Amino acid sequence: MAAAQDHPAWTRRGRVIWGGNLHEPLAFYRRENRLMAGVAAQGLWLEEWYKKVRSERTIEQLAELGVNLLYVNFAKGAGDPEYEDRAGTKRLVATCRRHGIRTLAYIQFACPITESLLIARPEARNWLARDRFGRPQLYGGNRYYRQRMCPANPAYIEYVKTLIREALVDYDMDGVFLDNFYYRPCYCDHCQRRFREYLRERFPDPLASLGVADLRGVRIPEVESRETVITDRLHQAWASWRMTVLPEVAESLRRYVRSIDPDAALCANICYPRMDNWSLRGADPRRFLRTFDISYAEASTSFPRWENGQAVSNALVLLMGADAGGNVLPGAWLPGLQLPERADQIELCLGESLAFGGHVLAGIWALRMKGRKWARNEQELSEPYFTRPEVAGTWARYNRFLLDHPQLYIGSTLDCPVAIYHSAASMTYDFGVAYAAFVNASQSLLQARVPFAALFSEELSRLNRYRVLWVPSQRCLSDEEIAAMEEFVRGGGRLIVTGWCGLYDQFRRERRDFGLNDLTGASLFGPRPRDGTSRASGKGETVFFPSAPELAGVNTRSSVVKPTVPNAAKQVVEAVRRQLGPALKLQVEAPPSVLMAVFKTADGATVTHLLNYNNREPLRDVPLIAPAGSPLRSSTPKAFSPDGPHPATLTEQSPGCWVLAELKTYTCVMWDREE
Ligand SMILES: [Zn+2]
Repeated sequence: MAAAQDHPAWTRRGRVIWGGNLHEPLAFYRRENRLMAGVAAQGLWLEEWYKKVRSERTIEQLAELGVNLLYVNFAKGAGDPEYEDRAGTKRLVATCRRHGIRTLAYIQFACPITESLLIARPEARNWLARDRFGRPQLYGGNRYYRQRMCPANPAYIEYVKTLIREALVDYDMDGVFLDNFYYRPCYCDHCQRRFREYLRERFPDPLASLGVADLRGVRIPEVESRETVITDRLHQAWASWRMTVLPEVAESLRRYVRSIDPDAALCANICYPRMDNWSLRGADPRRFLRTFDISYAEASTSFPRWENGQAVSNALVLLMGADAGGNVLPGAWLPGLQLPERADQIELCLGESLAFGGHVLAGIWALRMKGRKWARNEQELSEPYFTRPEVAGTWARYNRFLLDHPQLYIGSTLDCPVAIYHSAASMTYDFGVAYAAFVNASQSLLQARVPFAALFSEELSRLNRYRVLWVPSQRCLSDEEIAAMEEFVRGGGRLIVTGWCGLYDQFRRERRDFGLNDLTGASLFGPRPRDGTSRASGKGETVFFPSAPELAGVNTRSSVVKPTVPNAAKQVVEAVRRQLGPALKLQVEAPPSVLMAVFKTADGATVTHLLNYNNREPLRDVPLIAPAGSPLRSSTPKAFSPDGPHPATLTEQSPGCWVLAELKTYTCVMWDREE
């Protein structure tokens, strides 16, 4: 698996400012002829806009704003250079180069324009993904001219490699971007064959393990795709197999890109946390966050904001990306794919990338149109959106902040005493419960400003890095996972168990008794313990909440999960805090709309990042308290903020207590030493 140091230096966290989207050829917009996330393709000013956003003047303006990376139309997949506007690509790459901006070639991975591709490359017919009736699959279910390709088909991947080579060698681009890097249930001959091979290898005695007499008769199960519980053993095996398809492809493409140019980047839209990537559902998303140099985390409508008492945020995927040593480009829109209008929205969008690891500062809205809503005259209809003064000014300010303070982000690592457990079997076979519980546990800790990381089944050996492990309703646990948790607690670790974790084994077979009975002292044959019952084992302790408070009021039969913090979950957060003691180095007295992340810089300094999701109401005089025993008590902190000089004013009030004069959107505090 790729390690962080494998990423080309220019792609790493703290270095990338993305100027927006130039990935679609004009022909694509011309045909769609409708409003597409701020591009009025139906407007008679479409061509004028297309020329303007690619003009020398625009590229020069972007460079002045600090932009250093763009993705550019290259292969929407029509197989036709004129459709793709390759001549325009060549000019644009040269213009960008003149202004110090790197370019990625856009390649539509899952859903090319098959209508013309099938004529240009007749063999592409063999690469099509098939539904369970053997029919081609349409993009979005209704885009009749775009059929899905099957990434499990090696011939298709070879074709993608020819596109990559062309972009890097013939067009001299700095890397490639694969859009829609996902795998959906596919019933093509390749998938059928490869699934049977997997079964043969994995289950030498299929009768005993799967209840199947002869694997030769097995076909991929024809089942509903949105199930939240998977019990059928063959269906389980299929769910596990399909998670192996794309990581292999990603790794082979990464090696291919590097073999052409060791400094070229491989980037992709991993469609996470948007949960339609079936190669990710149940799996550790960091396998992609690690492999790709930049991962576009598409999340449709989770543009950061404060809504109904909850932070709508991309923090979780950003934290996972930082932990994997990768760099994330958050691709989130406002509901209705609206563009952010106000400076506070743009501050939050960019501040989120900074606060959770110094990820790509991405103006995905920047090169859209002013259009009907913002134009004051006919001329302005085709103006790029970022030229609105409130947009350009804010964007410039945040970009400048990153360029001036790279030491806060480059090479930084997550510093957190808590992990939340993400069990592979629970996520795969018990998705409805396990994923909602994981997401809500994360949201609870985020809004309580308790720094955490996600811990995955494959990396239980890392458990000792943490003081507290929260296992939120991960009901399918193997004997090995349970043994690792027992060892963790006996050695001094603190375990928080919510719900009946380990009720099932790793194949969702019911255990004779509750799997964590030794640690919790609870038995399915005894009385049900009260929430918050704690029990010591060895040097550590386990606190058990059988009612699964993080799922209170949650519909676990839904495959669409929206993070919430049930009131009941607050008692779990309190238990986490108690178990942490001074390992929670800093308390910030602020409303739950202020989220916090803690990183260690490459030099070893601690940096506390604060982001106010309710930033239409700036906070004044925010106390920061290092409790007795905290290593930060004797430190001299220094604050930094792109929101002006005032939010960076920090005054010591008493030993271990400082006051931040203002928290508008984003402020971070660097602590000079720890003892
Ligand atoms: Zn297939």
